[in-house]
Amino acid sequence: MDCLFCKIVNGDIPSAKVYEDEYVYAFKDINPNAPVHVLVIPKKHVADSIDCANCENAEVLTKVLLAIPKVAALCNLTNGYRVITNVGEDGGQTVKHIHFHILGGEKLPVKLA
Ligand code: AMP
Ligand code: ZN
Repeated sequence: MDCLFCKIVNGDIPSAKVYEDEYVYAFKDINPNAPVHVLVIPKKHVADSIDCANCENAEVLTKVLLAIPKVAALCNLTNGYRVITNVGEDGGQTVKHIHFHILGGEKLPVKLA
């Protein structure tokens, strides 16, 4: 499958790793929107949260969600952070492998929700 984030998980494209376990990989966003901007992804290719609607992928999603606070702690985000996932065209998703942005390291601007 021609997927940028699968290639990152496989080591075919370099990345700045922040965290890794059996199911999850986290790395620095190449174009950061905050002092800390990390992407947390499942190692398994799952396109988006709609693709998580079956049980097998739901389990993968749970692993990612459990990893997020660990990643935040590793990044010393003791004063809080924001987690964003963009889904589909309207959500502005550019990479079709589900990912959660962790943003922090400053008081974040523009709250949409
Ligand atoms: P999204 O727009 O929600 O699909 O997020 C995709 C994110 O992937 C963007 O924030 C990009 O900056 C980031 N990105 C794209 N290519 C790379 C890469 N090679 N390494 C790290 N982050 C990347
Ligand atoms: Zn993928």
